[in-house]
Amino acid sequence: MLYLDTEVVKCLKCGKDNAFVTRAGITEYGVWIAGDHNCTCFSRVQLIDNPVFDEFLELIRQVCIEHNIDDPEKYLLPEITTKLFPFACDPVDGNKISFRDGPRVCRYCGSNDFANTLSKPLYSTEVETFDVTFDSWNNRTQDARKQMIFNALTDIRNEI
Ligand SMILES: [Zn+2]
Repeated sequence: MLYLDTEVVKCLKCGKDNAFVTRAGITEYGVWIAGDHNCTCFSRVQLIDNPVFDEFLELIRQVCIEHNIDDPEKYLLPEITTKLFPFACDPVDGNKISFRDGPRVCRYCGSNDFANTLSKPLYSTEVETFDVTFDSWNNRTQDARKQMIFNALTDIRNEI
C-alpha cells in the first residue's frame, strides 16, 4: 500500500477546486516515487542497493567522460537524475514513467493558474500502485545502455 498527500487548490480561472496527488511529502532517503503518465498509479522505488540505479549512475559518469561533456557531477544531482532515470525504466502503457509531479491543469477549464494556498488541509490518500520494471534496460548490451544514456543526456541538456 502506498499513501501520498493530496492537495486541493482552487483554479483562479473558473473558481473550482481540483485535487492533486503530490509526491512532495515523501522525503525518505534513497526512495523515489514513480508515477505513470497520468499520475493515477504510483510505485515506491528503492534506489539504495538497486543494481540498475548504481549502474545507471556509473554509466552517466562514463558517457560524460567519453563524450567530453563538462562537469559530469552536475548530471548526478537528483534534479537531473530524476529526469534521466525514467529512460532506464520500462514504460507503462507506452508512456515513460516520471519521478516528478507533472504540470497542474484544471480538470474543468484547462487553466494552469491556481491559488497559492490550499482550499482545505492536506490529506493522505491511498493510491493505486504498479511495479517499476527494467526489462528493456536489462536486455540491452552495455554499449546500447550507454547510447541510451547519451541520447537522454542530449534531451536533458536542451532543457537545462
Ligand atoms: Zn478551472
